[in-house]
Amino acid sequence: MKKVYLDNAATTPVDPEVLKAMLPYLKGSFGNPSSVHSWGQQARRAIEKARDQVADVLGTKSRRILFTSGATESINFAHKGLIEAIIRKDKRLKPHIITSSIEHKAVLETCQHLEKKGLVEVTYLPVDKKSLIEIEELEKAIRPETVLVSLIYVNNEVGTIQPIKEIGQRLAEISRKRKKKIYFHTDATQAVQYLDCRVGWLGVDLLSLSGHKLYAPKGVGALYIRQGTSLIRQQDGGGQEHRLRAGTENVASIVGLGRAMTLVSQHQATNSKKVARLKEKLVKGVLEIPKIELTGHPYQSAPHIASFVVQEAEGEAILLRLSDQGVAASSGSACTSGLLQPSHVLMAMGVPVEKAHGSLRFSLSKNTTQKEVDYLLKVLPGVIKQLRAMAPKGV
Ligand SMILES: *Cc1c(COP(=O)(O)O)cnc(C)c1O
Repeated sequence: MKKVYLDNAATTPVDPEVLKAMLPYLKGSFGNPSSVHSWGQQARRAIEKARDQVADVLGTKSRRILFTSGATESINFAHKGLIEAIIRKDKRLKPHIITSSIEHKAVLETCQHLEKKGLVEVTYLPVDKKSLIEIEELEKAIRPETVLVSLIYVNNEVGTIQPIKEIGQRLAEISRKRKKKIYFHTDATQAVQYLDCRVGWLGVDLLSLSGHKLYAPKGVGALYIRQGTSLIRQQDGGGQEHRLRAGTENVASIVGLGRAMTLVSQHQATNSKKVARLKEKLVKGVLEIPKIELTGHPYQSAPHIASFVVQEAEGEAILLRLSDQGVAASSGSACTSGLLQPSHVLMAMGVPVEKAHGSLRFSLSKNTTQKEVDYLLKVLPGVIKQLRAMAPKGV
């Protein structure tokens, strides 16, 4: 049976080059980077090389990069660490955070956690029908207590690219005028592979990314912390990672992330073009099926994510049938305890609940081929037709 993996926004396979770079650190070079002997020093050098590699892609200095267990941890630390630092400095302040209603759960739940603890107030910005944040809405939400704006660069469900650079510039101007800094965090997990993520150019103070969305292994990520941004560490213990994250480093995975980042920078332009062309064909083909709409922004969109709502067929059911045909895709709705929860992203975009249940996402990779897209376009119409034939009217 054919196997076609179109779920690269969920996770990517490890690149053979990445695996090759990692293997020595799972074998002979197993030392603890905090040890003074040669084993330790070899591991230390490997980590610092990886830090250079990550910093290079983000256009910053190595010491601004912190390794974590993934984007979820980077995001948790960026928000909780910053808020704790700010509250320590000004005990009477109740800081205000602005984020959007289409963030990844890692951001939404972290904000809700801080809110429930009574430490902060949070504004969740609405988005328009195409899932764009309006800068005007953001400006209106700013209060004297606003300390942090946190926005996703590329939405993982619908692929929309937010104007992070414009927002970064605007926030810097506002901060200057009122003589009080508004920190800016972006979840760039889905952006790093295809878009310019140089932090100076973007104007961000904090940027989170993850290894397993760009052909490095799962369980490793990084956080960029701009100079002068103080964070209180959330994991206590040893002095690793500039005393900001205790615990013996995940050496091999960090090496893998570093290697993956160099591959990103070497091939970003060609991969972006190639993937965008394939996505165009995919979208065109899928939209030939009746009663299917594209979600997300029609052109301000990442090259690898194509997201749809299908009427009169449920997303989960389509996924299962596609899986029977060897195709891996994903849906925004998660089936928990038999209840279909429509995607919070589609809800925020104003997609009606019935339509949101038919959500379907295909995400491509640098290795996706025309043949694979053709295969999907061959099997998908039949799958949907069958499901529609079975469905009672109105579902
Ligand atoms: C995958 C993803 C995350 C979480 O990353 P992990 O490394 O799995 O914790 C956060 N944000 C976005 C946009 C993602 O796609």
